[in-house]
Amino acid sequence: MPIVLLACKQAIEVTPQPKSEVITQVEPQNNYNTLQTINFITGNFNPASHPEFDLIPGLYTNKSGIYLHKEALDSFKEMYEAAKAAGINLIIKSAARNFNYQKSIWEAKWSGARTLSSGINAQTDIKDPADRAKEIMKYSAMPGASRHHWGTDIDLNAFDNAYFSSGEGKVLYDWLLANASKYGYYQVYTPKGSERPSGYEEEKWHWTYKPISKYLTAYAKATMKDSLLSGFSGSETASQLKVTEQYILGIHPSCH
Ligand SMILES: [Zn+2]
Repeated sequence: MPIVLLACKQAIEVTPQPKSEVITQVEPQNNYNTLQTINFITGNFNPASHPEFDLIPGLYTNKSGIYLHKEALDSFKEMYEAAKAAGINLIIKSAARNFNYQKSIWEAKWSGARTLSSGINAQTDIKDPADRAKEIMKYSAMPGASRHHWGTDIDLNAFDNAYFSSGEGKVLYDWLLANASKYGYYQVYTPKGSERPSGYEEEKWHWTYKPISKYLTAYAKATMKDSLLSGFSGSETASQLKVTEQYILGIHPSCH
């Protein structure tokens, strides 16, 4: 009999926990936790077989076999239709690029096989490795350090700021400035100045889908290190040039 009484007493004294508190504890921080790994943000995966990526249909790009994160692509499609209704034709010129793809771009420039947009041959004109990397990084990221790895960033219409300064290019750019944010898209590399003191030069063509990339930027800020940039020509200059701080995080404040 004393055992039964004790059991009843304990049962009465137990205070039930509100159910909502239990649910809150198991909720993930955001929907993109599987993307927040060093392998992913440094581009060590194949966009063609990534379960969260989709092929960009030919309507939206002049390239074949290029990919984007599904949500970024879905929102781009809505932006494309809105632009089209305003008489503007958005064309994706580049989207997800993995480490190996970025390495092929970088090493073509590093070796002089591809001349830089300034007309400089990086191999023959610039002997000091850090100076050479810095010149290439006016417009190109080191493999492992590109936002194009993330499947959230796109290049639109022309790799040329001048195109966006007059005529149909200016109409397109002005439309993006006024409307792209409604679809989650923001210009990453705005003019250098007090708001963006370091990093790549201005790129009027490069836009990011912030609802996902803001988490990847935060993850990169917390975990990325220059010493993780390796496996390509000139990688030894990454620490000296503070690539993570100056370039990966050298973005417009609106993209955080
Ligand atoms: Zn770009």
